[in-house]
Amino acid sequence: MKKVVIVGGGTGGTITANILARKVSREAEITLISNTPQHIYQPGFLYRALGEIIDESEIIREERKLVNKRVKLVIDEAVKIDIQNRMVDLMSGKKLEYDYLVISTGSRIVPEEVPGYEVSYHFYSLEGARKLHEALERFKEGVVAVGIGGIPYKCPPAPAEFCCLLDYYFTKRGIRDKVEIHYLSPLPRTFPHEAVAEAITEMMEKKGIHWHPMFNIESVDPEKKIVNSLEGESLRFDLLVMVPPHRGAEVVEKSGIGVDGGWIPVDKYTLQYKDYSEVYAIGDATNLPVSKSGAAAHFEGKIVADRITSEITGHEPRAKYDGRVLCFCDAGFRKAIYMDFNYENPPKKPRFSYIWYLGKQLVNRFYWSLILSGLV
Ligand SMILES: Cc1cc2nc3c(=O)[nH]c(=O)nc-3n(C[C@H](O)[C@H](O)[C@H](O)COP(=O)(O)OP(=O)(O)OC[C@H]3O[C@@H](n4cnc5c(N)ncnc54)[C@H](O)[C@@H]3O)c2cc1C
Repeated sequence: MKKVVIVGGGTGGTITANILARKVSREAEITLISNTPQHIYQPGFLYRALGEIIDESEIIREERKLVNKRVKLVIDEAVKIDIQNRMVDLMSGKKLEYDYLVISTGSRIVPEEVPGYEVSYHFYSLEGARKLHEALERFKEGVVAVGIGGIPYKCPPAPAEFCCLLDYYFTKRGIRDKVEIHYLSPLPRTFPHEAVAEAITEMMEKKGIHWHPMFNIESVDPEKKIVNSLEGESLRFDLLVMVPPHRGAEVVEKSGIGVDGGWIPVDKYTLQYKDYSEVYAIGDATNLPVSKSGAAAHFEGKIVADRITSEITGHEPRAKYDGRVLCFCDAGFRKAIYMDFNYENPPKKPRFSYIWYLGKQLVNRFYWSLILSGLV
């Protein structure tokens, strides 16, 4: 019996475990290690912050209920990944050997890396989203600045999307004319891909959202309520929403398998780690040149499950990741855009429409079933 160990039970890890359970549970023991018994749907944080989701059971489920019964789910923290000895050490003191390892530990946020961060808010954790919601509900007038504390971060459209949704939120509250919304973009445009940036810029300008190019946040002055950029600009705010800097998981950094901020270097097609062909990494944990997104984790998980299945059943692994990412960006007022691209084909200029708003709702709904099971 081969042993497959998957570290990290979020989007990518759960999908990979479920596909492997269906394909090779007779030939292999599949173990999924998660440091939490809960699975949280992170795109829901945005809506929790804006008060569109109040009942958190919409975005939280028990991991056990989401994984195939043939997957051995271990709720424990991986504290060391020893790839020389093919071993994962757990906080409880247990050690797990493996023949194949999939690392899907995602990313962690490190707000403390920005001096003065403590006066800002974010929607990159459930706790953060709850606090931001309270701050928004108290907000009556003034300047809201939305910026980015470091690159890379999860879901590149999220801060621009949040600005558009703020416009919708304040309009619904009847105070839009009393609020200035400023988007501090770390790039010379509103989005990494030029064609998409064009559509987002047009939407922001239509909504009267001020956007500042090349504003990489360096520090915040908590007393004066001023946010400063590396490029030497400053903006005074009444409410600051900042995407916190991200790093790879602690276990990755401590095990010495991450580079430049704890991201795992993998082959961009096979997703294998260096010369260790039995070690794969997927999703946010990697240093791949694709968006840190659930969609990428999803597609990569399918590729890795396919490759491990081939190896276990004695076939040449042929599946390769083509860099596919798809994503939606909600602009409020029931309009959204949709992008689908890969390493070779950048996205085309998208159009905001009701259809893509519905598309986003469908993804939110089917995440728990069709997506996490790996059936789509
Ligand atoms: C506000 C927001 C909006 C978003 N919107 C979108 C969107 O619209 N579309 C989209 O595609 N993506 C979106 N994303 C991004 C998406 O949620 C992530 O990119 C995706 O969850 C990454 O999947 P992953 O499997 O790599 O990591 P995760 O899903 O984060 O899972 C990692 C798991 O590993 C666990 N873990 C970490 N360390 C250890 C350890 N040492 N031992 C055991 N377990 C460990 C963690 O607890 C976690 O459960 C959004 C994210 C946010 C925050």
